[in-house]
Amino acid sequence: MITINKYKGRLLSITHLFDAIVEEIKIIPSIKEWCSSNGITETSEDRVGKCPRNQSTGKHLILLAETISYEEKESIIGAMSLHGTSSKDLEILADEWAFVKHLLLHEFAHAVNSEFSEHQCDCWAFDKMKEITI
Ligand SMILES: [Zn+2]
Repeated sequence: MITINKYKGRLLSITHLFDAIVEEIKIIPSIKEWCSSNGITETSEDRVGKCPRNQSTGKHLILLAETISYEEKESIIGAMSLHGTSSKDLEILADEWAFVKHLLLHEFAHAVNSEFSEHQCDCWAFDKMKEITI
């Protein structure tokens, strides 16, 4: 089990680099429940990250699940592989912090460009990981 709060300090440091587009990061037990209490549509039970836009400020909110099981991690990596992410990039994600960092940057990618596909977000996140050495 990956405990996201363990990395909170580092996640906040990275979030500050995106202050212009991201207003807050929330680490919560269930993204689906949080969305339903906040009037946002979310049907997936096992969502680990989401990037809703605050309509009044125009900035984005990053939602991350408090815990991610190793099975969920493997299924996320499997989906990236299916979408064409190279095995060289996927190997980087064996490191737990690298996986969490990629997850955060993937959500930022949605904030940067709402037209990006899931694979484009993954690629953008891998590029940013090389620049951001936190
Ligand atoms: Zn995504």
